[in-house]
Amino acid sequence: NSNNETGWNLDNSYAQLPKVFFSTIDLNPVRSPELVIFNERLSESLGMNSKDLQSDTGVEVFAGNQTPNRSIPLAQAYGGHQFGHFTMLGDGRALLIGEQMTPQGERFDIQLKGSGRTPYSRGGDGRATLGPMLREYIMSEAMHALGIPTTRSLAVVTTGESVYRETELPGAILTRVGASHLRVGTFQYAAKWGSTDELKMLADYTLQRHFPDVEMDDNRYLSLLKEVIKRQASLIAKWQLVGFIHGVMNTDNMTISGETIDYGPCAFMDSYDPETVFSSIDIHGRYAYGNQPKIGAWNLARFAESLLPLLHDDQERAVEIAQDAISEFANLYRTHWLNGMRAKLGLFTKEEQDESLIDELLSIMDTYRADYTNTFVALTFEKFGDTILSGKEEFNEWYNRLQERRSRQVESKEDSQQLMKRSNPAIIPRNHRVEEALNVAVEKRDYGVMERLLSVLSDPYAHSPEQVEYSKLPEPSNRPYRTFC
Ligand code: AMP
Ligand code: MG
Ligand code: MG
Repeated sequence: NSNNETGWNLDNSYAQLPKVFFSTIDLNPVRSPELVIFNERLSESLGMNSKDLQSDTGVEVFAGNQTPNRSIPLAQAYGGHQFGHFTMLGDGRALLIGEQMTPQGERFDIQLKGSGRTPYSRGGDGRATLGPMLREYIMSEAMHALGIPTTRSLAVVTTGESVYRETELPGAILTRVGASHLRVGTFQYAAKWGSTDELKMLADYTLQRHFPDVEMDDNRYLSLLKEVIKRQASLIAKWQLVGFIHGVMNTDNMTISGETIDYGPCAFMDSYDPETVFSSIDIHGRYAYGNQPKIGAWNLARFAESLLPLLHDDQERAVEIAQDAISEFANLYRTHWLNGMRAKLGLFTKEEQDESLIDELLSIMDTYRADYTNTFVALTFEKFGDTILSGKEEFNEWYNRLQERRSRQVESKEDSQQLMKRSNPAIIPRNHRVEEALNVAVEKRDYGVMERLLSVLSDPYAHSPEQVEYSKLPEPSNRPYRTFC
């Protein structure tokens, strides 16, 4: 066991669930772990000693070579719809070492991703490679800085071992921190392979862990469903507002906590186009930018289905109850999105025609393939010179309508600009910047480019001079950007 000065303070509430929900596992040690990136601020917010964590003994934990006191390493069982097809999954290359209890009394899952084979590995090697683990680190920390609920990244270690994909690649392990790893797929698993009692225990556990303060309906499981719908409606609206494309919204990659999880093929949209897809395996565009809200509702319907035995003794009645709850998603989502868009345009009040004003802007952006992020920054600072919309007649007309609309609110122009600065990020993790950082990191084991990128991304609403460089678009290319799982 690793020493105590590191500040590990683990509990294991998930391990108290019935055994169907997990497998305890033996560690799969790696040869020569090396810490390559570490999140000091996160470690301190978890009540840990950032210096000792980075020592050789501290790093042994991130490598899965040793466990902290009171750790019960386990792999979680879950199922999920992958591109619409239901299958058994589970942590095939991850393990939960426990739940860190912070000095504030919060509970966070500590998961190692890339930690070796588990009973759920199927044909896989249980390992992960350096590029994708660093990519998850960058993307998740960028999302957090943007104010979007997400799992966090505490550390990445290289293992000193090779991983064989199409080529030989350096192995790595990511330490992921999350409110939990309960997924829609965890409930699907319980409904399909557990008893009704076990399903109920999972639901009760979830209510206690994530929704302790929610006022319950007579039917507490309906409350659970409604709360998850609310959180996902809010989350997906936030994705849309910054142009984030998750890329693989399978039901096993949708959390119950409302955090973004699983940063495999995600990427941010450059030019506005609802059909944007980056993932190399998403050939039909199921998870395209413009489909995300619809897919969110579809996934939540799968969640509702898995809760049916708990919603009512009469299953026909249960279906009606579930459908009523699911039908709320669209309204909730729309409201979050509209309010977010109003803020992006500096609007404090609500008017009937706002939706058409917004849709019209998006349609002009679509026509001219305007950069999503930079258009809103240009609107914030009223500097259109660098944008493709400059001098376009439709855009000028639209802009006049926006000014008229703003003149009907009492807030000053300065107030509007402040609101816009808080609502429109100066920078996002641009694909070419992320690739550049990863290439240097993986090829040269030089993490300087990545550290600078992380630092600029850590305050996306600063609108600082140094961010201008990072807001530049890539050179035009014939090859569309592609991401891999
Ligand atoms: P993901 O695409 O990361 O959401 O993973 C989907 C499923 O495949 C999960 O059950 C993973 O644990 C599993 N998986 C992905 N990569 C591997 C691997 N290298 N070895 C074993 N299982 C894996
Ligand atoms: Mg996953
Ligand atoms: Mg289009």
